[in-house]
Amino acid sequence: MVEFEVKTRERDDLRDITALVQQAVSTVCLQDGVCTVFIPHTTAGVTIVENADPSVAKDMLFILDRMVPWDDPNYTHTEGNSAAHVKCSLMGCSLSIPVRGGQLVLGTWQGVYLCEFDGPRTRRVQVQVINA
Ligand code: ZN
Repeated sequence: MVEFEVKTRERDDLRDITALVQQAVSTVCLQDGVCTVFIPHTTAGVTIVENADPSVAKDMLFILDRMVPWDDPNYTHTEGNSAAHVKCSLMGCSLSIPVRGGQLVLGTWQGVYLCEFDGPRTRRVQVQVINA
């Protein structure tokens, strides 16, 4: 397994980690198989979204914030970050990406994003590869 860290910049932040995941796959010299990306946190997740136009990531954060506002008098979690836990769960904590010829097999416009919902913080990303 390869682990790397990502520093997030704001409370809600999407960071394109595609190149870092590719670097992790290259480090272990996987040629053909599956790469799993796992985020070991409860207020940060991972997703694949368009990375050609940065406004898409911005809109994702806007919509998630509308769906799950930071403040709501009905929240019961005493830590005060219920919205972050819910958004994290909506995005999920892992991905599986096919690898062929040592390269992530992503669509032309797909990028892998770490999703921060209670930052800024330093987040860990774990990449595991399985030969197939
Ligand atoms: Zn909490």
